[in-house]
Amino acid sequence: MSDDPSPDPRISRVFDLQKEHARKLRTESPANRIQRLKALKKWIEKNEYLIQKAIYRDFKKPALEVDMSDIYPVLTELKDALHNLKKWMRSTPVDSSVAYFSTTSHIRYEPRGVCLIIAPWNFPFNLTIGPLVSAIAAGNTIMIKPSEMTPNTSEVIDKMVGEIFKEEEVAVFTGDVEVSKELLKLPFDHIFFTGSPAVGKAIMKAAAEHLTSVTLELGGKSPTVVDANVNIGDAAKKIAWGKFMNNGQTCVAPDYVLIHKSVKKSFIEALRDQTEKMFNGKGNDFVQSEDYARIVNERHYKRIQELVQDAVKKGASVAFGNETRAEDNFISPTVLTDVSPDTEIMEEEIFGPVLPVVEYENFDDVIDIINRKPKPLALYYFGRSKKRRKKLISSTSSGGVCINDCVLHFGHPNLPFGGVNNSGIGKSHGKYGFLAFSNEKAVLKQRVGFTTTKMVYPPYTKRVRSILHLLKRYF
Ligand code: NAD
Repeated sequence: MSDDPSPDPRISRVFDLQKEHARKLRTESPANRIQRLKALKKWIEKNEYLIQKAIYRDFKKPALEVDMSDIYPVLTELKDALHNLKKWMRSTPVDSSVAYFSTTSHIRYEPRGVCLIIAPWNFPFNLTIGPLVSAIAAGNTIMIKPSEMTPNTSEVIDKMVGEIFKEEEVAVFTGDVEVSKELLKLPFDHIFFTGSPAVGKAIMKAAAEHLTSVTLELGGKSPTVVDANVNIGDAAKKIAWGKFMNNGQTCVAPDYVLIHKSVKKSFIEALRDQTEKMFNGKGNDFVQSEDYARIVNERHYKRIQELVQDAVKKGASVAFGNETRAEDNFISPTVLTDVSPDTEIMEEEIFGPVLPVVEYENFDDVIDIINRKPKPLALYYFGRSKKRRKKLISSTSSGGVCINDCVLHFGHPNLPFGGVNNSGIGKSHGKYGFLAFSNEKAVLKQRVGFTTTKMVYPPYTKRVRSILHLLKRYF
């Protein structure tokens, strides 16, 4: 992290190098991209322990959780890209209408050029290298700004990229917000940002200066509906995992639960039970558990504490948890009930191990509560009512939906991942990630000599009028 306010000359030097190199990449064969992806895959497979160690140092994330949510998803992206790249790169022919009878057309997927990836800290490897895979697959040069909040992981990413790529292909810029701001002054061909909606707005403003396209993977409050006819044990287990894994610092974690009054008591008991079993398996306490990560830093620890205090001051009860230890940013898995809608915890994305449970009687209230807030990144429904599930999906808007589970849709290789408006713009993962980093170029080829269009060129005679009339009416 640098306190030096003067711009890093390396930034503009590498940008110029990459701009030059990006031109060469336009005509390269798929084999070259495959070679770069394979080199990345090999490095990760060989150095898994370095990634695990770094993320543990950053926020005590258990090694197996790193495997599951940082390393495995990136390897899956890599395998998917390696398997499908030639198919993705192939131009797509499109049909011609009668008016275009004399033409043939196709969509060509060209690299955008020099791309910037700005990453968050919460899955610091996955959310930096996942987009990198898509950007390489699409044939771009890439400048990366990992998060300053997870410096150990940023160091590993820097080392990895330095060992595999030339600066003109991929380069890493570690440092704080000032580095990010300096990068954002440049006329990138695309910016892929993952982070908060507030910073997403700053990114979009900076991009607007150069009319740079953006993919914004943002956050927000993902509602989790628990219906009256739910399987309580099943739902409690899945929600406990989705909420408290990564210490609740997951963009698609259940943010709050809307639960039918009739099952609230038994659900909370089951949730407490499942949370103990999963994250405190040895039964000592959560502080000693090796399966429970920490809040990333003191600022976020205090922020979450304040959310809880505000809710309790306004009438909420702590159903369980809220044991704290400031010296290592520890808050035990916490569930709040009787939370008033005017609390900060019901307004702000929680991004920590605290789950408000709000009861309802009438299903229409659920839809109203969700629709009064900005469109979420994810929406979860636990229950067996097909009718209410369908109503919920069709009456609300969200980036994704998961039925009778949570978080899982994030990793599905054939589903687009992303938000809508406040929770994001654009999609990523697999083919959708490849498209995010590609310009879908329309190519039309006309024949020489007779063409259908020539038939309606001026002068605008009666004949032209009749042809246009026919076209409008029948084709
Ligand atoms: P953040 O927005 O604070 O920071 C993200 C990145 O932006 C960091 O690299 C940071 O250095 C940079 N940055 C911060 N302020 C900036 C500014 N003013 N100008 C330019 N760059 C700036 O986000 P975070 O705290 O790292 O991550 C948490 C947020 O990210 C949550 O809202 C979460 O929901 C969201 N998130 C979304 C996804 C997704 O895939 N949709 C995934 C993970 C996290």
